[in-house]
Amino acid sequence: MENTELKSEPIYDVILKDVNKVYPNGFHAVYDFNINIQKGEFIVLAGPSGCGKSTTLRMIAGLEEISNGDLIINGKRVNDVAPKDRDIAMVFQNYALYAHMTVYQNLAFSLTIRKTDHEIIHKQVMYAANVLGLVPYLNRKPKQLSGGQRQRVAVGRAIVRDPVVFLLDEPLSNLDAKLRGSMRKELMQLHDRLGSTFVYVTHDQIEALTLATRIVVMKDGYVQQIATPKEMFEYPENLFVAGFIGTPPCNFYSGKIDAEVTKFIHQSGAEIYLSKEQSQILKDYASKEVVMASRPDYVFIDDSSLKKYSKQTFELNVEYFEFLGAYKLIYGTFGDERIIAKVDPRDEIDGDKIKACFQAEKILFYDKETERRIR
Ligand code: ATP
Repeated sequence: MENTELKSEPIYDVILKDVNKVYPNGFHAVYDFNINIQKGEFIVLAGPSGCGKSTTLRMIAGLEEISNGDLIINGKRVNDVAPKDRDIAMVFQNYALYAHMTVYQNLAFSLTIRKTDHEIIHKQVMYAANVLGLVPYLNRKPKQLSGGQRQRVAVGRAIVRDPVVFLLDEPLSNLDAKLRGSMRKELMQLHDRLGSTFVYVTHDQIEALTLATRIVVMKDGYVQQIATPKEMFEYPENLFVAGFIGTPPCNFYSGKIDAEVTKFIHQSGAEIYLSKEQSQILKDYASKEVVMASRPDYVFIDDSSLKKYSKQTFELNVEYFEFLGAYKLIYGTFGDERIIAKVDPRDEIDGDKIKACFQAEKILFYDKETERRIR
């Protein structure tokens, strides 16, 4: 039977095309930012302090002028459209609620000042309160709420506006670790329930990995990689992303590829054999220096792995280890480079020099000069 299903074009809620920001003092904070954000995506902008993620979010919000490039929201170029007319709602880190107003009034505020019809205001407020579990607190003042409840009111104020895009700038950073964890879960559920597009800024890579449909990692104003959390974890595009995403961080080793491109020779002299695929990928790197990377999750010390990866074994000098319930972290060195292994808590650690191995398929190689993944 003929497939009559129509292939529809993806709907993009937000498009950034070669977007740049140069602040009036001449500082170039964002370079050529390009992304097409589909309806319903949860995009997380991540990166260290000062990398330009808030600037990017503020340009989408209309709080910062775009120096160069195009911003398209819902099919319309909005570079010169005022924030209030952009179909966006923003939740900040310092969500200031109006202390003298009840939760209901706080939620209603943005619609009240727009002179929206009372019935619609009530409908929207009750919708947001229901979605966020705030109905029992509608008559309370902010100071009678917990931190998490206050945060929910701040999110609720964005929901009542029914925007095309929610912009969130580190909304959980003022909460303690435990509350952050539960609010993270709530945000995920909220995103599922609303089906709206979220753009979320954080410097916390765990938030990025758990919340995002796609993560954008930035550094010094440049986008380093845009990928799903899994892709970014498994195939970081460059050494910076490899080091930024994942806890504990990725292990890096210096050494070179042998003349026949069959093995990586670590600076300690240890030899790690390449898979056929890796030899193929590394064919231009014969006798050249490279950086080998392996996540702590893919270093093993148990007998069956040692047997399976007998051509990727090495001597691990154990300094100390931490038992963390579901796994054990071994801290030590491989030659004179640092290594962390995340192993099964039942694995025995006999002595301070033990045999360990890398999961062959998971080893990645990076060009020493460009720091980019060799692929
Ligand atoms: P953080 O996590 O610390 O908020 P960020 O990645 O959000 O960092 P931005 O706030 O976007 O960083 O700032 C990016 C760069 O632009 C920083 O180096 C910052 O000092 C600079 N910057 C921000 N605002 C201005 C301004 N008004 N004038 C000049 N430079 C600015």
